[in-house]
Amino acid sequence: MSASGGAAGIVLLYPDLLGTYGDSGNATILAQRLRWRGRPAEVVTVLAGDPVPASADFYVVGGGEDLPQSLAARQLGAVQGYGPLHRAVDAGAAVLAVCAGLQILGTSFVGPDGIRAEGLGLLDCASVQGPGQRAVGEMVVEPDPSLGMPVLTGYENHGGVTTLGNGARPAGRVRSGVGNGDGTDGAVSGRVIGTYLHGPVLARNPALADHVLSSVLGPLEPLDDRDSDALRVERLAAARGLASASAPSTPARGLLGRALRRG
Ligand code: GLN
Repeated sequence: MSASGGAAGIVLLYPDLLGTYGDSGNATILAQRLRWRGRPAEVVTVLAGDPVPASADFYVVGGGEDLPQSLAARQLGAVQGYGPLHRAVDAGAAVLAVCAGLQILGTSFVGPDGIRAEGLGLLDCASVQGPGQRAVGEMVVEPDPSLGMPVLTGYENHGGVTTLGNGARPAGRVRSGVGNGDGTDGAVSGRVIGTYLHGPVLARNPALADHVLSSVLGPLEPLDDRDSDALRVERLAAARGLASASAPSTPARGLLGRALRRG
């Protein structure tokens, strides 16, 4: 493992199943932020059916449609209850999971047949189909104070809602958008972080990338993040604009949601 001097291992899990929303970029960001600091990093892409190495430092799981989401959960050992991702987490690896990734890391979610499916149980949360329309649009999240980072931005596109148990805390409170569906977003337990934020979320929120990296590697040298800060400022302003232009109960969904549905 990199903590002892070798290249940091970053596993990008199943981009062929969970690659619909560009979340594979999160692996690129983790690697690049290490390389900018002069630290070697290696991204290992694991496709469906490939063996999953359990000895990497970081695992990135993205969002996707309901069927590939179920396949990914099964391949990661959701039915057996213990698989390579469980081994990696027990060995000290960090995991960032987005949307479908968040849902399959929880205890259960709803499969494409509408039936409850087993999750990996790495996060104490359960997901079901939401009562209304899909949540689609820009999202702004006030991160949990323990994460010690500025407001997070991203976008969401999901039908599921997620309820946390006592063993996880939310990644933050939703300022704009839907997230878990109860005013919170995501789930955090130790080095495992799940969120509904796409973006890729680590490109839009470098502080979150560094949080993931330093949760395994310890404190890191600061980087010049002026470019990505400019993107954050622009996206926050966009989310505010959408919020003031749409219905008060679902602030950021209206305009962008309609634009996305059109095409
Ligand atoms: N299929 C899940 C849902 O709709 C996750 C979607 C996603 O990953 N964007 O809730």
